[in-house]
Amino acid sequence: MNDIIIIGAGTAGLTAAIYGQRAGLSCKVFEKYAPGGQIVNSPSIENYPGMYGVSGYDYSMALFGQAQKLGAEIEFSEVTGIDFSGDIKKVITSSGEFEAKAVIIANGAARRKIGCKGEEEFEGRGVSYCATCDGAFFRGKTVAVVGGGESAFEETEYLSKICDKVYLIHRRDVFSAAKTAVDSVLKTKNVTVLTNSVIEEIKGENAVSFVAIKNRANGSISEIPLSAVFVAIGLIPENGIFKDVLKLDEAGYFDADENCETGIEGVFVAGDTRKKHLRQLVTAASDGAVAANAAAGYIRKKFSE
Ligand code: NAP
Repeated sequence: MNDIIIIGAGTAGLTAAIYGQRAGLSCKVFEKYAPGGQIVNSPSIENYPGMYGVSGYDYSMALFGQAQKLGAEIEFSEVTGIDFSGDIKKVITSSGEFEAKAVIIANGAARRKIGCKGEEEFEGRGVSYCATCDGAFFRGKTVAVVGGGESAFEETEYLSKICDKVYLIHRRDVFSAAKTAVDSVLKTKNVTVLTNSVIEEIKGENAVSFVAIKNRANGSISEIPLSAVFVAIGLIPENGIFKDVLKLDEAGYFDADENCETGIEGVFVAGDTRKKHLRQLVTAASDGAVAANAAAGYIRKKFSE
């Protein structure tokens, strides 16, 4: 049995593993995809203190290596169920059932979909949720990015360097991305920003060839020929397996505050999966440290009594 099971190997989960191992506790981390979480898709990180211009992939691999060097065990399996009823917590995964004295849930969130006609049909054939993964397939072509947050601006900046033309399509005329990112994209010659605009339909034969866009201000519909649509419209939590046991807010995020406690003794949450105002690397890392510290305190008290 491990001291702590951590669900998710993103920034929050791996930071929790680092802090847990350094507190002398054995940590086992379950991850269903790849280490790093959402940030693995970022072409360049500019807002993590002390780190400028490092790619999300390089950062993720460094964090993964650091947790492993400190002794954390990372297993690539999906968590499919939990039993938090006893003092020993049970976590059911695609590779079996595991027990621990404490659990830290750091399962992040998934990319939100537009939900328009053609999106699902053309996924992998011009509809993508990751510019750094798929951008190179559209070198020299015209593409669109949807969204007005950090991810949309990062992806637009990245694609503007490899594509002939990039449309940034946003549903409002105000952006939530950092001002430096917005200013830089607005100055980029091969980027056209379409505000108050939503994609009604993504069309094509075998692959994406154009989109129908509705202008929300005047209701007009226009069609733009292009080869790919990169969707960067935020995240949605995937906390369904916990919903009967732990409190979620109306959007499905864990209703836990800055101390990362859930209301169930020995179960903590960290990172993007919990209700918070600012979902950033730095806040995910902070949560990981707080949750591991709380789990360590709980284990010392509970299991040495
Ligand atoms: P986000 O910050 O939640 O922004 C989502 C954007 O998509 C907003 O512009 C939103 O518009 C728009 N949107 C939401 N639902 C939509 C829909 N159904 N149709 C069309 N547009 C829609 O998401 P994100 O940019 O993907 O970032 C996710 C999280 O990761 C954020 O917390 C972000 O700060 C963080 N992040 C951090 C870094 C970094 O630290 N380097 C990099 C990337 C992302 P409205 O404004 O109208 O709601």
